[in-house]
Amino acid sequence: MPPDRTRLLVLGTGFAAFRLVRSIDFGRYDVTVVSPRNHFLFTPLLASTTVGTIEFRSIIEPARHLGARFYQAACTGLDPRLRRVVCREDDEFTLDYDRLVIAVGAAGNTFGIPGVTEHALFLKELQDARSIRQRVLACLESAALPGLSPEERARRVHFVVCGGGPTGVEFAAELHDLLFEEGRRYFPGLLDFAKITVVEAGPDILSAFDDKLRHYATELFHRHRIEVRARSPVVRVERDSLELQGGERLPFGLLVWSAGTGPTEFVRGLPFQKDSRGRLLTDHYFRVLDCHDVYALGDCANLLGENLPATAQVAMKQGEYLAGALHRLAAGRPVPPFRYRNLGMLAYLGGNRALADLPNFKGAGWAAWLFWRSAYLTRLLTLRAKAQVLFDWIKSQLFGRDISRF
Ligand SMILES: Cc1cc2nc3c(=O)[nH]c(=O)nc-3n(C[C@H](O)[C@H](O)[C@H](O)COP(=O)(O)OP(=O)(O)OC[C@H]3O[C@@H](n4cnc5c(N)ncnc54)[C@H](O)[C@@H]3O)c2cc1C
Repeated sequence: MPPDRTRLLVLGTGFAAFRLVRSIDFGRYDVTVVSPRNHFLFTPLLASTTVGTIEFRSIIEPARHLGARFYQAACTGLDPRLRRVVCREDDEFTLDYDRLVIAVGAAGNTFGIPGVTEHALFLKELQDARSIRQRVLACLESAALPGLSPEERARRVHFVVCGGGPTGVEFAAELHDLLFEEGRRYFPGLLDFAKITVVEAGPDILSAFDDKLRHYATELFHRHRIEVRARSPVVRVERDSLELQGGERLPFGLLVWSAGTGPTEFVRGLPFQKDSRGRLLTDHYFRVLDCHDVYALGDCANLLGENLPATAQVAMKQGEYLAGALHRLAAGRPVPPFRYRNLGMLAYLGGNRALADLPNFKGAGWAAWLFWRSAYLTRLLTLRAKAQVLFDWIKSQLFGRDISRF
């Protein structure tokens, strides 16, 4: 290796960071990756793992497969003047860099609503999906016990999802599939009691989708007996119930919170300019404002003058762009500014139905579901992951989902 390689320090192992490091030329850059998570997680299929349609390990990729130096730790501080970061796992250590890429994503947002942190489950990481799967099965088993009042039985199998964006909707859809496929077979006495409710503070679910597609989703949810409570902000959460604005109480067995994201504690503490949502502002080359050797990508950043959606698609394009830009920079060639071309949005709705809201095509139903599955299968990063997900889909179709609790 040439001794004079530029030291590139990348924070995070998410979509933006992974895409960047996979494309970087290690002959020109001495790359170090720091992240508290030692794997990449393909979040678009995370909801499927909460019910066992897909197994957890099928949608992750170890960070060490990247071939760069890797430290499993969280970055806790940054001194841009010294070009040094502070990291912490059990102990604290520092790392120096020539160029720094901040791609630390975003954190779940509770909006300061009392009780959310204590009593709701989030859906962001693999351990969240595992906790949800355990809780869903615990709810079903405990509701099947004898001697319960009808109200208590119904509470235990009332699954509430807070947030009507794609994540909340897809989780409700996967849960519907579990209840009406495995539930029908193994917990037939519970089906009359079981209920899924999606609570949304805004006027509609899937607000970023086309009107007709949104209407289709609401109708389908109605047919699937998933109740949508729009314009219903949650004001308080307790151990087994929540309170809506206006005073109505909803008892639940499980509450999943996917009502939006906000900046991580690390990003909140950084001395750079941010937008109104706490994201790091960057120019069109992803340099944070006023500091040209620090870049920010993905959910933790926002391009000045634009408002790109916080999606995997955007984060990956940014990572790919920055790898190309860094190569050009190292070769002394001019770097063009970033341009984003939207490829559209997809959402799974349950019962083998999906939405596809693409620039040149809008569709809903079974064909959109086939497209949804093939699109995500092709976007998985490795052949191993593609094979495993395909195998999981076939396995759950032929033999059903595993409902063991351990
Ligand atoms: C359940 C779910 C479903 C989704 N479905 C879709 C979808 O279908 N389509 C779509 O386009 N988008 C989807 N998204 C959104 C998508 O996952 C995000 O937009 C994308 O992950 C953002 O990529 P990122 O690289 O910015 O951050 P992330 O992928 O979140 O990665 C952030 C990384 O930074 C690390 N990190 C955090 N703090 C620190 C620190 N202090 N120091 C170092 N490292 C740190 C984290 O451990 C992680 O490795 C979904 C999200 C969720 C949660």
